[in-house]
Amino acid sequence: MGSLELIVKEIQKWDNFILLGHVDPDGDCIGSLFALKWYLDSCNKSSLVLLAERPDEKYGFFGIEKSDYQLFADYQLTAMEGTCCIALDAGNIERLGEGKELAEKMFLINIDHHIDNPGYGQLNYVNPNKAAVGEIIYDLIKEDGTSLLNKRIATAIATAIISDTGGFRYQNTSAGIFKTMSNLMEAGIDLYEVNRAVFSNYHFSTIKLWGRALSSIKLAAEGKIAYLRIDQKALKETGAALDDSSGLVNYARDLKGVEVGISFTELEENIVKVSFRSNTDCPVHEIAAFFGGGGHPRAAGCTIEKDINQVEELVLQKVKEYV
Ligand code: 5GP
Ligand code: MN
Repeated sequence: MGSLELIVKEIQKWDNFILLGHVDPDGDCIGSLFALKWYLDSCNKSSLVLLAERPDEKYGFFGIEKSDYQLFADYQLTAMEGTCCIALDAGNIERLGEGKELAEKMFLINIDHHIDNPGYGQLNYVNPNKAAVGEIIYDLIKEDGTSLLNKRIATAIATAIISDTGGFRYQNTSAGIFKTMSNLMEAGIDLYEVNRAVFSNYHFSTIKLWGRALSSIKLAAEGKIAYLRIDQKALKETGAALDDSSGLVNYARDLKGVEVGISFTELEENIVKVSFRSNTDCPVHEIAAFFGGGGHPRAAGCTIEKDINQVEELVLQKVKEYV
């Protein structure tokens, strides 16, 4: 797994960094990337976050500046001498998307919490006991022994933690995380603001999409599986964006008696993103891995290139073997 101490020592050796996250970055990914970037700024090191798209406006509240990141489309993908690459929250190198090519050419530090991370960096710190990569970034800043935790960094870390623990409701929530949160609150975060940004503040079109998706919900395996779909038709007719469908899978998982919740999102015709959530014991990362994806035991995903009806059938067949 490598130790955090080694990561801190390695970071101290370099002056320039490129920071990469996973495709379709979530709150943990965005929060961790900018927390690390601003920490490196405080250490007088130069760093750049590279993203496929502008960060979702919902993370705007913690103060991301245009100069803090660059889009792959505007960036010359050349590996630079003397620059270290750090990958965050990406369970495998493919998950870096457009960043993969760059990561393969540079000295790469892989910091993650996915149990199935194969350790694709030159230096790896993968800790599946951490609920969020944001928690690891906090530990890393503490390990450095400096008191560089300002309100902006603390807010980004809190966003990461609150996103990946579902507001401290998931099994990954540890006693230690509350100690971390206590320190983040002392650093001045506005917990209400973070929760509101992560879990509410919806667009009207989002709720309309949710209405459509929720009315598609079905049960299988005597009520132990619940699944719903977000197809292109629903997306077009409600005017919602793909991002607006994230979180819907939780409603399937949250039904009484359900062990596995699944959402099928039609990204394009014959390309379906499948999200899995389980309640207590079904290792959904294994199911996702069977279809070429991965994730955590309680939250995982994959993308399958087939018609949505076929995908539903195939996936349900597999999940039934587990419940
Ligand atoms: P979500 O369903 O919210 O997209 O993802 C849930 C979890 O599964 C996240 O930890 C995410 O990193 C992981 N995950 C989602 N899709 C994929 C995928 O296609 N490949 C892998 N390896 N992990 C995924
Ligand atoms: Mn994460």
